[in-house]
Amino acid sequence: MAVYRFAPSPTGFLHLGNARTLLLNALMARKQAARFVLRLDDTDRARVSEEYVDGIRQDLAWLGLTPDAEVRQSDRDDAYAAAFDRLVAEGRVYPAYESEPELELARKLARASGRPPVYDRAALRLTAERRAALEAEGRRPHWRFRLSGGRVEWPDGVRGAQGFDLSSLSDPVVRRDDGSFLYVFTSVVDDAGIGVTAVVRGEDHVTNTAAQIDMFAALGAPPPAFAHHNLLTSADGAGLSKREGSLSLRTLREQGIEPLAVAAYAVLIGSAEAVRPVSSLDELAGLVELSRLSRAPARVDMEELAALSAKTLHALPHDAVADRLGALGVEGGPAFWEAVRGNLATLGEAADWWRIATRPLKPEAARPAPEDARLVAEALALLPTEPWDETTWKAWTSAVSAATGAKGRALFAPLRIALTGEPHGPELAKLLPFIGRARALERLSR
Ligand code: GLU
Repeated sequence: MAVYRFAPSPTGFLHLGNARTLLLNALMARKQAARFVLRLDDTDRARVSEEYVDGIRQDLAWLGLTPDAEVRQSDRDDAYAAAFDRLVAEGRVYPAYESEPELELARKLARASGRPPVYDRAALRLTAERRAALEAEGRRPHWRFRLSGGRVEWPDGVRGAQGFDLSSLSDPVVRRDDGSFLYVFTSVVDDAGIGVTAVVRGEDHVTNTAAQIDMFAALGAPPPAFAHHNLLTSADGAGLSKREGSLSLRTLREQGIEPLAVAAYAVLIGSAEAVRPVSSLDELAGLVELSRLSRAPARVDMEELAALSAKTLHALPHDAVADRLGALGVEGGPAFWEAVRGNLATLGEAADWWRIATRPLKPEAARPAPEDARLVAEALALLPTEPWDETTWKAWTSAVSAATGAKGRALFAPLRIALTGEPHGPELAKLLPFIGRARALERLSR
């Protein structure tokens, strides 16, 4: 069975760029009826926090995504140790003793003499005595994976055929001198152990892929199909970072941006598909095609996202928002939702209109201009008896027009201000039944 995974490090809150990776994996899995695993890359104990772990789970739930399984790297030390021991026994992982300053110096010298700054494998040539002497000095080894050399090629789902010369890479460090394992290795052990068949990730990881494919081979596991997507940048072209709060999913949520709009925006910008509202994640999954992602970075435009969010909201059926409306204290069922949804920038504004329709107007609410007093008085006198429905507005305003001669804006604008205290808003034909005759009387007499 096909298996996709999303593997964030819980060292910050997810941002829109992380959402792109998340959704591309989750939606490809949905499209292919594959499994979708959330893997928490939480081995960097100093930077990981439970707050971020919970934050990631909440963000997935907010987007409407439920992983089929959750894996935490911090639970899997035994698996890493077993794979490590095996590779050490097979001579594919070896101890190295150089300190960071020594490595830095070697890189500088290599560059100065026109050679690529690739680790020279000096540690492989150490004699047993020399190793013992280094350990006696108190040096503890870190461990490197010995790349097999030659060329690694893979068909990238976004970038097409990719090839990399392993001899141009340093043997990657897989374990630090404090015993902790590094991502480049744990990720392969996990993907192999979980049976991940497809990895969609940012193109900042392209440089890891050749070495990781070589590690899969060393572990006797088939590599997943890799696809490296273009990255998102903020408006000024800078990369998104977990420390830059403005584009975090939780900030977008607090701003009232719709989760479905975030999902659509995160996957449709920087692709051959037009950015457009969708009515469900299933519909969005149908639009995701890795080969249609562009290669250039895509710039996030907050205004475009806010506009997409409003459009998404306008098309949502009452069923999709009933729970959230209930939590905001908005009643009135589908009819009220139909009345207001086209006017909303955020769902929270539905509560404002509910208050305006059904609670006393605020003292500071706008009042009709003095020159409209006669029109308003006439309208008050002609107010129909209840029951009211969506035809009441038309019948009433026709009668007011006949009595006063007022038409169009001159007729409707003063009545809107009198009835709602606002110059703009939802269609009054639909809103009027919720205001009701008693409140309308009172408001027209203000
Ligand atoms: N934890 C890595 C990251 O956040 C995962 C990379 C991968 O998908 O392999 O970038």
